[in-house]
Amino acid sequence: MFSERLAAVKTSPSMAAKAKVDALRSQGHKVIDFTIGEPDFDTAPHIVEGGVQALRNGHTRYTASAGTPALRAAIARKLERENQLRFASEEIVVGCGAKHIIYNAFAASLNAGDEVIVPAPFWVSYPDMVALQAARPVIVPCSEASGFKLAPEALAAAITPRTRWLILNTPNNPSGAVYTHAELAALCEVLRAHPQVWLLTDEIYEHFVYGGARHVSPLSVAPDLRARTLLVNGLSKAYAFTGWRIGYGAGPVELIKRINLLLTQSTTCASAVSQEAAVVALDGPQACVADGAQLFESRRNRVMQLIEGIPGLSCVCPAGAFYAFINVRGLYGRVTPAGREIASDVDVVNLFIEQAGVAVIDGTSYGCPGFLRLSFATSLDQLEAGFAAIAQAVAACKTGMEDA
Ligand code: PMP
Ligand code: GLU
Repeated sequence: MFSERLAAVKTSPSMAAKAKVDALRSQGHKVIDFTIGEPDFDTAPHIVEGGVQALRNGHTRYTASAGTPALRAAIARKLERENQLRFASEEIVVGCGAKHIIYNAFAASLNAGDEVIVPAPFWVSYPDMVALQAARPVIVPCSEASGFKLAPEALAAAITPRTRWLILNTPNNPSGAVYTHAELAALCEVLRAHPQVWLLTDEIYEHFVYGGARHVSPLSVAPDLRARTLLVNGLSKAYAFTGWRIGYGAGPVELIKRINLLLTQSTTCASAVSQEAAVVALDGPQACVADGAQLFESRRNRVMQLIEGIPGLSCVCPAGAFYAFINVRGLYGRVTPAGREIASDVDVVNLFIEQAGVAVIDGTSYGCPGFLRLSFATSLDQLEAGFAAIAQAVAACKTGMEDA
């Protein structure tokens, strides 16, 4: 009865973690939630007002599948203003979130047995979206020592005649890695020798970079790869816009047309109201974006101190996004108050939820066992309370020595 392709996929671990937290809370449990990656503040009032006005002005109907001319023009202006990249409206397609665009880009381009290179740690949805097309995600590990960045040699070794895409996500979810101009140049140099490989750049965290780090759009480093690059971005993170569901892709017309073909037969178009509000967000004052980035940077700095205060935890300081990707191997071998020996990141996630009431996501879900992801897109009060509870839970664990 059901599609065989579903056997290759699981529920998105971030959505599953959110559902678990919602369920625990509805049963009356107190949970401090560090799972889902979305800003904890509301969309800026002038953008909300743009949405309200859109409703009053009758933007309540279907729009063009690829997005309204007004929104595609606003996206083109944004790409030129912020990324120094020029795109015509026909090279831009709007979807219900960046996730929707990535999904449809794979649906439009992959055949059974094709390969997509996914550097690990990766955002949880990439491999499963590839697998849904009966294609094969080729996971390439990026070491903690390298700051979780893909090495050009590792990229070169992973490419085969079946490789169709390389996914580059900078700033990275979950590691917070931000690729420099030189690092991107080295990766693009590898791609030059392999014309069958397209480049998908996921730049959804571009505005959240800290401590002097700078977001570099890979296309600005290698404009010669433009004919085979799809730039993906969206408003979810930058404008605290997650529930409005607007994302977009910019790339070669032939790919954009085919993504649009799928939209005409599936979602028809993104919400008309949300598209109008997105124009207001992109064309309006940008202070809300800078304010968000500043807030996340101060939380990042505090989270790094809090992590340092707990023996057994360590973390490469994230230069971007709003996640700490914490090494928890230092806790292996300890015995929880429930009498279980900690032997994996999943065990640590269970310890944190059971003993501390703190929800985080296992690194295994991101292709990187031994770590966990903690979203710091939450208030400082919650972070302080959560880490105090984690510290107690860790202190309550016996070391193997004590046990013996
Ligand atoms: N890419 C990355 C790396 C993400 O973390 C997310 C999380 N939401 C998305 C894409 C999708 O965002 P959205 O669909 O809300 O635009
Ligand atoms: N990207 C966010 C996260 O990683 C939102 C959930 C999702 O789409 O995976 O938590």
